This record gives sequence, structure tokens and C-alpha cells, in this order.
Amino acid sequence: MRACVRVTMSSTTEVVTSAQRAARDETAIDERRDARATTSSNADVNSAPAAVATNDVVEDAQGEEDIWRAAAYGNMEALKRMIAEDPGSVNSTDGAGYRPLQWAALNNRVAAATYLLDHGAAIGAGDNDGQTALHWACVRGSLPCAELLLRKGADLNAPDARGYVPLHVAAQYGHTGMIYHFKMRWNTNIDLTDLDGRTALHWAAYKGFADPVKLLICMEADVHRADKEGCTPLHWASIKGKSEAAHCLIQSGGINALTAVDCDGSSPAALAEQKGHHTLSHFLAKQYRTLMKRDHFMTQKGMAAACLGLIVGLMLMFARNVMFCPGAPVMDVSVAFWSLATVACASLGIYYMKRVSYNDPGFVSEAVLRAIRRGRKPEVSTRASKAAANTADDADVEERLNHSELWAGNWQSLCVSCKLVKPFGTKHCSMTDKCVARFDHYCPWMGNAIGKRNHRDFVIFLILETVAMAIAFAVAVTRYNEESPTERDSSRFGVVIFAILDVFTLLPVAMLCVSQLFQVAQNITINEISNAHRYAYLQASDGAFVNPFDKGYVENLREFFTARADAPLIDVIAEPLLGNRRGDDAV
Ligand SMILES: [Zn+2]
Repeated sequence: MRACVRVTMSSTTEVVTSAQRAARDETAIDERRDARATTSSNADVNSAPAAVATNDVVEDAQGEEDIWRAAAYGNMEALKRMIAEDPGSVNSTDGAGYRPLQWAALNNRVAAATYLLDHGAAIGAGDNDGQTALHWACVRGSLPCAELLLRKGADLNAPDARGYVPLHVAAQYGHTGMIYHFKMRWNTNIDLTDLDGRTALHWAAYKGFADPVKLLICMEADVHRADKEGCTPLHWASIKGKSEAAHCLIQSGGINALTAVDCDGSSPAALAEQKGHHTLSHFLAKQYRTLMKRDHFMTQKGMAAACLGLIVGLMLMFARNVMFCPGAPVMDVSVAFWSLATVACASLGIYYMKRVSYNDPGFVSEAVLRAIRRGRKPEVSTRASKAAANTADDADVEERLNHSELWAGNWQSLCVSCKLVKPFGTKHCSMTDKCVARFDHYCPWMGNAIGKRNHRDFVIFLILETVAMAIAFAVAVTRYNEESPTERDSSRFGVVIFAILDVFTLLPVAMLCVSQLFQVAQNITINEISNAHRYAYLQASDGAFVNPFDKGYVENLREFFTARADAPLIDVIAEPLLGNRRGDDAV
């Protein structure tokens, strides 16, 4: 990676210039459209509906009236009059080669477009760049007009002079809802390429529109597809320094996206560095190092092994230095009881640690969601269900993405790694690379995420180890103070060493235990506390923090500790409580 960064790329400039030229041209088209639409009046073309209600503006528009302006402003009276006077004008072009239907489509004038189509407007006619009315509708995200054109037979796959289909234009201008509509209603091919071999994902990445990037990835767009310059979407996001889009592409494409090289042998990080996007370049390099280490056993379970070693080591030391301390008297019944209680608690703690570390914390996959949708109980994660989850990518995109959250335009609910719509309370865990229901945090000491299915085990583990270490400390103090049948010897030093180690371990564990219990008593997770500003349902109308799920300490604790193991993975009860205050998980 570092070697790649240092490579000088003689032809990368050409690559960049090529894309920049394309982008500039496409912007220029937009500017021409803006100029044409706005010179007819001072009102912005987007505020034209309001202008219609203002007599002065209408009069001004009517003062310089022509059929293209009438179509652009939806001036139906003028439009009807002019078409009645000259029926051939319906397909006439203005000085720049643009037609009335294109102006109507650009400004989402559904009535005008309908009238024009009903009076012979050529639906597939292109301008000088070969862009049809549907292309124009995509510039401003004029979805109702686009839908009208499609129902009237417009071709969604019609390329313009550069090979841009309407989907490319929608991606170039960041109209996520339009892309969604084209796929869900019209089943457009999202991997169509322009003449440079670029897909809609290339364009959305290049422009840095994170939402279209997310949606296209979730629609199974090819993250690794290279254009004629050998550039993947991540290369283009890197060239333009678009961090959020780059992050999404890495989440989905992983290490292969980071190591892909273009025709000049340049990686995305190298291009970002060359273009002066140093922060993004460092981010990409860091992501590479993180991903290279993520799946190693030592990264995943290394600290868990150390944690287990610490517990076992303390237990052995307790037995050797405290229970059977050389020189100390034989334990009386009381000390023996509490010593055994220590060993029992610590051992039971290890059992719970194993459960936390290896059991499913509440992973949410498309297979799980599909089972829920179809009214079946999702399987608890096993190797078989993990294999099933991996094949979930084959699920029909329409079924997977036909979701009220997406129809409502809540693109933040998409997880680009798992390619699903995250249910309420679910968050993607970057360490396990899976979505986790009621995600609390990733615990390196357990080597697993803490979520809906293993949170209680985690808290029980903390309680058991805290109790074990507290009792062990008390037993150590008792043993230290016991009268020795022989003169006190150096063996008591072992008791002191154990007590010091024990208390240094006890303090952080006890603090974590108390903090976890306090959060459970409030029915809130660490993730929610840390990211409260991202979750609308945790904010009152005045912006103050509010937790709608807090039922009081006693009830919260009772629910947490008595919840059934097979309780629903997704908290559907939460939905009515939320109203329109759903949270956004922007991570
Ligand atoms: Zn996920």
C-alpha cells in the first residue's frame, strides 16, 4: 500500500481529467438548463410553483412567452393556446435544441407534460446531447414526471450521447429516491455502463452522494467494477476526496476494494494522496490495516484468552497463596465455605464468559429478517444458520428492499455491509462485521459484540466475577490476620501479592458491573448513551434527552433478568412507542 502511494502516475492526470471533463460537461448541461429556466423570470426554477401564484411573475413570464417557457413554468393556458395555434410546435426546439417536453420534465410539470404527450410530443426525442425528457426529469429528481413518462412508454435504458441512461443522471445529481423508484417499480439494470464503462455507482461515488452509494450497494451494484480506466467506484471517491462515500464502499467491498488498482497500478489511497486528500488517504491506509487484522484469531479472541488466563491465574493463586497458604492454619468452616464460594462464583463466571464469547449476540442477517417477515422464528445462530445467512445475498432485491423505511426515504436505515434495512435498535458492529440487535458495545475482553441475546449473560458474568473477587479479597484479609500455629513466615507474602492483584482487577470489573447494572436499570444501552444525538427517539421536542423505554428501575431490571431466551429478536413493541421519532444510525 505504501509503495503504491509513492508511485508517480503519469497517466492518472489524464484519468482525472477525463472524469472531470465528463463531470464539467454534465454540470454545464445543468447550468444551461438553469439559465434557460431562470432567465424567463427572476424566480428560481424550483420555486416556479410559488411564482405561478404571484401575478407579477406570471405576467412577466407571459410577457416573454414562448412554448418552452410555458412548458417550463407549467403555464397551461398559454401552452394550450400555442399548441392550438401551431400543433407542430409541440416538438419544436428552442435555440439550444431543447423541446417543451424536456422543460416540463425538468421542472416536474406533470400537467404540462401530460398535455404535451397527449398532443404528439415525441417521448424519446433527445436534445443535442441525446438526452430525452426522462434524462431531464432525473436532473432535478422530478419523480412524478419521470413516472408519467415511463407509464407513457419512455425508455429507461435509452442512452444519451455519452451513454448515460436516466439512472446515471439520477446518480450524478444524488436523487436516491429516483434510483430506488427505478429499481423497485421498473426493475432497471443498475449495472448499466456509460461509454466510459462507468456505472451509476461510479457516478454517485465520484459526486460523493453517500445515500445513492448506500442504496446502490444494497441493490447489489458491483462495487469492484472497473471502468475503462481501470477505476472502481472507490478510486473515484478517493480522487474527489469523498470520505463518506469511500467509507460505504469499503464497508461493502472490504480489502479487495482497497487493494484494487487502476490501469496505472494506483490504489485508491494512492490517488487520494496524489489529489491532496491526505485525511482520506490516511483513513484508507488505516482501514487497510484494520481489515487485514480483523479476521485473525488474536484480534478476535486474543484479549478474551488473556481475560480467561487472568481469571484462571487468580483462581490458582487464590488456592495456592490463600486457601492452602503455607504456614497458615487449616481453614475453619466459615473460611472454607467462602473460599469455595469464591471458586464456585469464578468458575460459573467462566461458564458465562464462554456463553458471551461464543453465543450469538443477536446477529441480524437477511435470512433472519426473512424468517421474521414470513412469521417463522429465526434460528439461533449456528454454523448452519450462518451458512444460510451467507446465501441471503441471493434473496430477491425487491423483497429485501421493499421496506416502508426506504419508501419514506430513510436511507440511514440501510446497512451496506449486511445489505439490509436495519430494524429498530440494530447497529452494525464493525468488529464482527454484522448487524446486532439492541447492540450495546463490542467487548474485546469477551471477543464478541454485546447485544440482545448475550447482554444478560455478560452482566451475570460481571456480577459473578465481581462477587468472586470481593469475597476472595475478604478471605485473603482474614487469612492474613489469622494466628499462625508457627511463627509468621514469608509465605504470608503470597497472600499480600494475591490481595493486591485481586483488588487491582476487582476495581475496574466492579466499576463496569455497576455501570452496566445502572444502564440496565434505565433500559438503555452504551451505544444509545454514546450516540444519543443520532437517535431522534431519544430526544424530546426541546432537544433534551428522553428515554421512552424507561419503565422505572425495578421494572427495567425485572424485565432484563427475566426475559425469555426465545424472546423476539427485534423489539416490535417499540414501534408504536416511536411514532415518527425513529432513530438514525449514521454509523
Ligand atoms: Zn450490518
